[in-house]
Amino acid sequence: MTSDDMTSGGTTAGRPVVAVLGLGIMGRAMAGNLLRRGLPVRVWNRTPDRAAALADQGAVVASSPAEAVSGADVVLTMLTDGPAVAEVMRAAAPGLRAGQVWAQTTTVGLTAVSELAELAQRHGLVFVDAPVQGTRQPAEAGQLVVLAAGPTAVREALRPVFEAVGWHTEWLDEDGATGVASRLKLVLNSWALTMTNGVAEAVALARGLGVDPALFGRMIAGGPMDSPYLQAKAAAVLADDFTPSFTVRNAEKDARLVAEAAETAGVRLDLALAAGERFRRARELGHGEEDMVANYFGSFPQ
Ligand code: NAP
Repeated sequence: MTSDDMTSGGTTAGRPVVAVLGLGIMGRAMAGNLLRRGLPVRVWNRTPDRAAALADQGAVVASSPAEAVSGADVVLTMLTDGPAVAEVMRAAAPGLRAGQVWAQTTTVGLTAVSELAELAQRHGLVFVDAPVQGTRQPAEAGQLVVLAAGPTAVREALRPVFEAVGWHTEWLDEDGATGVASRLKLVLNSWALTMTNGVAEAVALARGLGVDPALFGRMIAGGPMDSPYLQAKAAAVLADDFTPSFTVRNAEKDARLVAEAAETAGVRLDLALAAGERFRRARELGHGEEDMVANYFGSFPQ
């Protein structure tokens, strides 16, 4: 299928075959929603066990990235970071076909987005920079926001894919290589990382000062500083529940991407650097695979 085919709805009559590479917290949820919408889905993951539940839902499980992308109309990458995406797409190369649409949804930052757009160009792929806003629960509910940049010609054909994973797609540019969607994603993440650290620090401080930490959430409740996110994250720390929606390891990566982008832009950020330090300490204390609110442990270095 060429990008012209995709414009006209493609050979699969509005149901593009989607190859999902990466079945972590987000990729698994997104693939599940594509299947629920009746789209033909091919999946691959480095750790094959993670594909088992999707196979039961009807996904074709491939044993290599090349096998997964072979015959797909849309390739959707949802891996840890830019280097992982580049590595997997290089492995996919024998199965890629000029004209395939590549929806790159991983948070990769600005250097990597340019490199990946070049990689797409070398293979004749239509590159769509498409990071997503929202975490595990919205991903499972198909309620993400897709921040997208890519040619108008493929937007209609991508609609069933993005509508399966999200409630809204914000198209920002004709050219994915500009990285504008990834830039917006970094702006959103700078806020998310700051908020998560703020909640964890406040709870840690309450405990350190001998104040009932539950009072933090209760005193803020219903006021202008309150938010469902704050309450959920504070409650998670109090319940000692660090089940990951977004891991400390990935949050540390994103803090670095935000800081690097700011430095390139000549913008001084202090909070992103501090957030990165807290995530690093928490990871070194063994909390890397826990939810990013486990930066809480960064307040009690040993
Ligand atoms: P995750 O649960 O850590 O999953 C990472 C995925 O990448 C797994 O499938 C992992 O495979 C794979 N992977 C890592 N390194 C690899 C490599 N070198 N080669 C092949 N596969 C590799 O992460 P996630 O929470 O789904 O997030 C995925 C991306 O979305 C990240 O960029 C993250 O920043 C971004 N994001 C996350 C959220 C969130 O709330 N979770 C929200 C928006 C955006 P294995 O299973 O084999 O480890």
